[in-house]
Amino acid sequence: MLKIYNSLSRRKEEFQPLDPPHVGMYVCGPTVYGDAHLGHARAAITFDVLFRYLQHLGYKVRYVRNITDVGHLENDADSGEDKIGKRARLEQLEPMEVVQRYTNSYHHNMEQLNTLPPSIEPHASGHIIEQQIFTEKILENGYAYEVNGSVYFDVEKYNRDHHYGKLSGRRLEDLLANTRELEGQEEKHHPYDFALWKKASPSHIMKWPSKWGEGYPGWHIECSTMSTKYLGEQFDIHGGGMDLLFPHHECEIAQSTAALGKESVKYWMHNNLITINGQKMGKSLGNAISLNEIFSGDHPLLEKAYSPMAIRFFILQAHYRSTLDFSNRAVQAAEKGLERLLDGMATLERIRSGDTSTYDVEALEKRCYEAMDDDLNTPVLIAHLFEGIKHIHLAAAGKESLTAGDLDKLKKLYHTFVHEILGIRQEEKTAKNDLTDRLIELILNIRLEAKKKKDFDTADRIRDMLGELGITVKDVPGGFEWEWK
Ligand code: ZN
Repeated sequence: MLKIYNSLSRRKEEFQPLDPPHVGMYVCGPTVYGDAHLGHARAAITFDVLFRYLQHLGYKVRYVRNITDVGHLENDADSGEDKIGKRARLEQLEPMEVVQRYTNSYHHNMEQLNTLPPSIEPHASGHIIEQQIFTEKILENGYAYEVNGSVYFDVEKYNRDHHYGKLSGRRLEDLLANTRELEGQEEKHHPYDFALWKKASPSHIMKWPSKWGEGYPGWHIECSTMSTKYLGEQFDIHGGGMDLLFPHHECEIAQSTAALGKESVKYWMHNNLITINGQKMGKSLGNAISLNEIFSGDHPLLEKAYSPMAIRFFILQAHYRSTLDFSNRAVQAAEKGLERLLDGMATLERIRSGDTSTYDVEALEKRCYEAMDDDLNTPVLIAHLFEGIKHIHLAAAGKESLTAGDLDKLKKLYHTFVHEILGIRQEEKTAKNDLTDRLIELILNIRLEAKKKKDFDTADRIRDMLGELGITVKDVPGGFEWEWK
């Protein structure tokens, strides 16, 4: 039985969909004004594994992940410049050119990371009318007010009837003490009220007509609108990064409750954040490494390029609710681990079956499912898979044995958990590198035979020619070692 941690109840709950076998899942997608970074990768991979696992368990999942292309202002505030509008102004582009460029780039990165595309990917800018209607409902129900062409959510009124802060565990009094005074806030009755619709200043590029005048939607309203549009007024799972829990998701709960008279989401799930060398990621710290930079190695903090699968495996080796620190050492360790796992799987293909089994494949399978059912515990799952790899090598060495039936089960198990559920694919590059390695070893074995026949001319010639290709050969007792220079 799958259990998942619900951020709302703050405990693990048995997963019981509202309308099985159907599952509705909404995940907050990127604001497309720049290249995707590690934070995007972690959220996408976390919910990709959930999407994959739910489908593996037989659920029919409708996975909606939005593209935020309007209304997300700088500093996540209610006044200031639109993140996309600003990029468009600086680069002298049409805002939708910025949106298209970074949506394409995001899709490309997500494909590299082998995340499955969502079932529906709605854009905020494509749902302006729906957001206006949603805002009107909140107004009609008395939980919002209009000032000068802007509409704000009345947090205090809402908090009298419901509970604002139930997701984040914050209290309104504390919020008041911590809210910064910002320009334009004098329109609001209280600083913690938030915009549902904002009047556009004359210089604001992205704006639409409305009954309140020309303006644009607030950041939080898009997710309430699009999630309920495609998944119904109540749906199963809403996910996103921990940084979105407050205020974004707290505001979503308030909006849906205010408009629909009920809460929309049954399970709230949040993945934790990634730090870089122990520091929070941020542009001002110079450590906001994009995925493109990681895959090309083109960043001063990187010792080399890392493959998308190494990054995926690195992320999955931590539980999604734990913090994860990115460092060259940590990713290189993950890289080696992944290689060991895939090597083990290649060895598994070469094992010859025996008459008896000395290893309990079914017990391994049970442990793998238990790990996934325990709130998607991928690090424990990976530990079980490594444990199995040990036995694969022992069987390959003739020290253990597996029947033909157990061998088939084991192959299926690794295929299911590694490829289907964890979403690890054999990278073409890795396959090519693997072939190169084997060819080098083939040549060095021929050289070894030449040496045994005292044909030192040939042996030296091979060593020198490999040297010219950038390969260092070292003779050791009974064999050789080699490495790239
Ligand atoms: Zn959202």
